[in-house]
Amino acid sequence: MSSTVVQPSPAARTKLRPFDAGQVEFADGFWADRARINRERTIPHGLDQLRQTGTLDNLRLAAGATGQYRAAADSVGATLPFLDSDVYKWLEAVGWELGRAADRELAAAADEVIAVVAAAQRPDGYLNSYVQVVGDGVPYQDLSWGHEFYCIAHLIQAAVAWHRALGDDRLLAIAVRAADHIAAEFGPAGRPGVDGHPGIEMALVELTRVTGDQRYLMLATRMLELRGHGLLPGAERFGATYWQDHRSVREATSVAGHAVRQLYLDCGAVDVAVELGDDDLLAAVQRRWHDMIRTRTYLTGGMGSRHRDEAFGDPYELPPDRAYAETCAAIAAVMLAWRLLLATGEPVYADAIERTMFNGVLPGISMAGMRFFYTNPLQRRTHRVHNGNDGRRPWYRCACCPPNLMRLLSSWRQYLATHDDTGVQLHQYASATIHADLAAGPVRMSVRTDYPWHGQVSVHILQTPDQPWALSLRVPGWCRSATITGPDGTEPVVTGFGTVRRHRPWRAGDVVVLTLDLPVRITEPDSRVDAVRGCVAVERGPLVYCIESSGAPPQAEIEELAWDPERQPIVVPRPDIAGSMMGITVPVTYRRQQHSAAAIPYFAWANGRVAGMRVWIPR
Ligand SMILES: [Zn+2]
Repeated sequence: MSSTVVQPSPAARTKLRPFDAGQVEFADGFWADRARINRERTIPHGLDQLRQTGTLDNLRLAAGATGQYRAAADSVGATLPFLDSDVYKWLEAVGWELGRAADRELAAAADEVIAVVAAAQRPDGYLNSYVQVVGDGVPYQDLSWGHEFYCIAHLIQAAVAWHRALGDDRLLAIAVRAADHIAAEFGPAGRPGVDGHPGIEMALVELTRVTGDQRYLMLATRMLELRGHGLLPGAERFGATYWQDHRSVREATSVAGHAVRQLYLDCGAVDVAVELGDDDLLAAVQRRWHDMIRTRTYLTGGMGSRHRDEAFGDPYELPPDRAYAETCAAIAAVMLAWRLLLATGEPVYADAIERTMFNGVLPGISMAGMRFFYTNPLQRRTHRVHNGNDGRRPWYRCACCPPNLMRLLSSWRQYLATHDDTGVQLHQYASATIHADLAAGPVRMSVRTDYPWHGQVSVHILQTPDQPWALSLRVPGWCRSATITGPDGTEPVVTGFGTVRRHRPWRAGDVVVLTLDLPVRITEPDSRVDAVRGCVAVERGPLVYCIESSGAPPQAEIEELAWDPERQPIVVPRPDIAGSMMGITVPVTYRRQQHSAAAIPYFAWANGRVAGMRVWIPR
C-alpha cells in the first residue's frame, strides 16, 4: 500500500518519487518536537474547537438532528458556507497521525466524527451541511461563492489520507459517492462548472490515484481547462482575477487574485500535468511560480499582500505592516513547491519549501500549539498593540488556517526526502530515520542534526546493498560555504548548484557529514519593494529574524531603532525561549546612541506578551 501525501501514479512523469509515510520518521530535534506538539496538543484542541463552535453540530443537523445552524457571518454579512471543510482537514490530520502510531482516544473521536459525516450525506451522495440545512437543498446553485466542490475536495483529501495511512475506506466510500454526484452533473456530457475556490482539481487527481478510476482525473482536467473563460458569475465584487477566471491556466503568466485559490489551482495543474505527461501545462505553472517568487513573495515566503480580497498585489507590492500573508497561503505554497519538486527534481523548490515552512507556516501557530495567526505581517506597530489585544487566537470565525496547519504538520515528515532510480535525495534537514527500497536493494539511514540552530548534518548508513547508489544532499540557496566529509575524506562543496551528490558503493557504518556555515546574513530588499527600501533584515541559515518590543533597549519603541552598520551582530543561545534556540544580538542606534536589540526567529514572535515587532530595520 502506497501511503504518502501526494502519490503520483507509476506512469506519471515525475523526476523524483516520494517515500511512503512509514519510510521516514522523525527521531528528535526541532521538527520532531513540532510534530509531537501537533499530535498531542493541536489536534485535540482542534476537536474541542470544532465541537464548541458548532461546526461538527452543523453536520449533525444535516443528518437530521434539530437545532440552530452555527456559522458566523463574514465582514459583508454573509453566513460562511464552507465550515464543513474544517472537519475534513482535521480528519486528514488524524488519519496521518493514526497511521504513524495508534491512539485509542484519538481513534474513538475520529470514529465519532466519521459517523457524523456519513450520516450527513444524502442518499444521492450529495453532502454540504450549509446547503442541506440553511439553503433549500438544491445543489450547485452558486458555484462562485458556495464552496461546494471545495468542501468535497477536503473530504476527498481526508479519505485519501485514511486509505493510504490506515487502509480504512470508510471516508473513501463517502468521498466517492460525493465525487460521483459532482461528476454526474459536471462530467463530460454535463454542464460546464468550476468552483470559485479551487481545490477539487488536485483532490480528484488523488482520487484517481487511489481508486484507479480515470473519470476523476478527466473531470479535474475538464475543470482546469474550463477555468479562465469567465464562467463564474459574481466577478463584479473583486474581478475575475480574484478566482483566476480571467485567463486560462496555460496562458496566465503571473499569479493573480486570491492567493490560496491561485496556489491550490496550480497544485491541481501540476497533478494533472504529471499524470497526463502534459509538459506545456507544467511549464505554464513553473513560469508563474518563478515570477511569483521574484515579484510577489515576502522574505518569509508569505504570499498575498492585500487584505481586501486576500490577494496577490502588483509586482513588488509587499508592505511589511499591511502584509496579509495568510497562513493557508504559505501552506498552499509548500504544497505547490512539493509537487514541482517531484515533477522537476529542481532543488530551488526544496529551498522554497524550507523558507516557507520555517518563516511562513510556523509563525501561524504558537510554540505551545494552541493559538493561531490567520495573517502574518512582518511588522506590528507598537501603538496598534496599545489599542487592544492583537495576538494569536485559539480559533477563528473563518477557521481555515488552524486545521490546515494540523494536516500539514501531521504529514510534514513525508516532505523530507525522495528517491529515484539512482538513489536517495535529502531535501529538508531533521533528525530522522529513512528506509528506502532502491532498485539496487534496501537502504536504511539515520540522519542526525541540530538544524536549524547548527549547520552540521550527519548521515549514517545503517544498511546498504553492495551495488553503488547515489546520496544527494541539498545545499540551500542561502549557503555560501560548506564542506562534505565522507569515506573519501573532506572536500569543500561548490555552492550555488543546489545539491551535492555522491554516487559510490556504500558500506554499513559509512558516515557522510555535510557542514553548512551559518553566519548571520544582513539582507537587503529588492530596491523595487519601495515599502522597505533602505531597510535590512537579519537572517541566519533558513531563518528570518525579527525584533520584538521586549528585545528593544529600555524606553525605546522599536519604531525608533535604526540599524548600526558600524558593529557586527552576535549569535546568542536563547534557552529561555526554547531548548537550543539561537537568538541574535543586533547593533542598533536609538537617539543617536549605540544600543543593542535582541532578535529572535520570526516564527517565535508573539508567544509571550503581545508586542510590537519588525523584521525590516531601517538603516
Ligand atoms: Zn486560512
